[in-house]
Amino acid sequence: MRLQYGTVRLSATDLANHLSCRHLTNLDLRLAKGEIPEPDWANPHLRVLQLRGLEHERSYIESLRAKGLAIVDLSNEAEEQAKEATWAAMKNGAQAIVQAGLAIGGWRGRADVLLRVEQLGKPSRLGNWAYEVVDCKLARETKAETILQLCFYSDLVADLQGLEPEFLHVIRPHVDFGPESYRFSAFAAYYRSVRRALQDAVTFDPADTYPEPVDHCEVCRWWKECDGRRRRDDHLSFVAGASRLQRKELTRQGVSRLEELAKLPLPIPFKPARGAREGYVRIREQARIQLQSRTEGQLKFELLSDDSGEGLCRLPSPSAGDIFLDLEGDPFVGEGGLEYLFGIASTGEDGSLGYQRRWALYRAAEREAFEWLMDLVFERLSRFPELHIYHFGTYEPAAIKRLMLRYATREEEVDRLLRGEMFTDLHIIVKKSLRAGVEQYSLKEMERFCGYERAVPLPEANQARHFIEHQLELTPSPRLTAEVCTVVEEYNQDDCRARHADSRRKGSPSTWVERHIAKRRDHASPAASRRIV
Ligand code: SF4
Repeated sequence: MRLQYGTVRLSATDLANHLSCRHLTNLDLRLAKGEIPEPDWANPHLRVLQLRGLEHERSYIESLRAKGLAIVDLSNEAEEQAKEATWAAMKNGAQAIVQAGLAIGGWRGRADVLLRVEQLGKPSRLGNWAYEVVDCKLARETKAETILQLCFYSDLVADLQGLEPEFLHVIRPHVDFGPESYRFSAFAAYYRSVRRALQDAVTFDPADTYPEPVDHCEVCRWWKECDGRRRRDDHLSFVAGASRLQRKELTRQGVSRLEELAKLPLPIPFKPARGAREGYVRIREQARIQLQSRTEGQLKFELLSDDSGEGLCRLPSPSAGDIFLDLEGDPFVGEGGLEYLFGIASTGEDGSLGYQRRWALYRAAEREAFEWLMDLVFERLSRFPELHIYHFGTYEPAAIKRLMLRYATREEEVDRLLRGEMFTDLHIIVKKSLRAGVEQYSLKEMERFCGYERAVPLPEANQARHFIEHQLELTPSPRLTAEVCTVVEEYNQDDCRARHADSRRKGSPSTWVERHIAKRRDHASPAASRRIV
């Protein structure tokens, strides 16, 4: 978005942004008018995403060249030149136009590729041919924002050639460059309504918007400003587990701050129009303990009663063979992602907790590491039939199933682990067992309750992980230094050991786990009794 001769100039990105977040349009408009300064924060992954996007687009264009298409490439042209060159190439009937410059009125954009289609029965203003828009996208699933952007380019192309393109196409990675095609007419009405809403938002005084958290926040350059504003407002989005719907309802009831929610009388003094009353009691109690932790300056937690049998009752009796598993994976490497580091903590002969790991920086190594892990589990299982595999969240079991399917190996072993209910998700158990004064029930937050201290500070570990992941995403032969690998290994080891701490650690405040484990020795768990391994 930019202001030129008093007119706001809009692009396809502005349209997609408007769909993601109205507040973003508002901030961009104020920036364009010079009312606020440029944000100084940028997601460190964006540059890598851009490079991967360019690489994907380059590969697609190479595939067009390989088919013998005559291509007009305008990648190096500035906006005005690209616009004129695009119109000239369209009139000359070029088979493909790369980085086509399109602009009409206050709207402008650069389409990845315009592809020529023959129009024998229905000529365009150009002749017996016309153009359809192709966009190269990295996302595995096509999003509404992508369709909107393509509609936007198709609309501009329609204006030039005097004929609406019939289809718009998305090229996703690793699908042999076969396009995913959508009919423009199926989305045109929706596109026009979003476009009108955006035009209104920038023409008239924008409505008073609020930075409600949305998915786009993760990559948005305004994140720092919006997060700061929410913090100053003690916003309800900081209450762990409070849904957007609940927050809306609470605001309608005059409760818009965490502190207000924490002090709401019980029983809840209103009948919610949406959602169950119990849900509001739950988040009210969550806000209360968060406020308590904040005002007293110390970590607070309280045990929940385990009526559902989903909390501490799910924690199996400890076994000397127990395994604490953590995988480091990157979903954007190659086709289907890569689990690049397999780590486990387990107790050795001398009774101390040890750590073992396998790196997998390419496909064949991933298979080897997966087989190594399975063999190690079954070797321990032969000595400790009561062992469990502890993990935090659903990632690890899902990755194990994915690897089994990818390599068609160790199927029987994985089946036995799953049927024997040998995976124990500590995240579910923690969430169902206790209420804690934290904004989210992540491993990193929960390990503080066990007094677990990491060997590597998280910012350093994250930087090293991102470095490795960017290398893996951008090059088939990543160049990794020993230092960076050591940091990630130590981070992985911390995650494995923290899982152990979350389930076992002695001393306050996790003695509840100890007490529970002692109790479980007398009452065999339902999971253990179902074991068929
Ligand atoms: S950070 Fe989130 S709320 Fe703020 S402008 Fe961006 S998308 Fe909207």
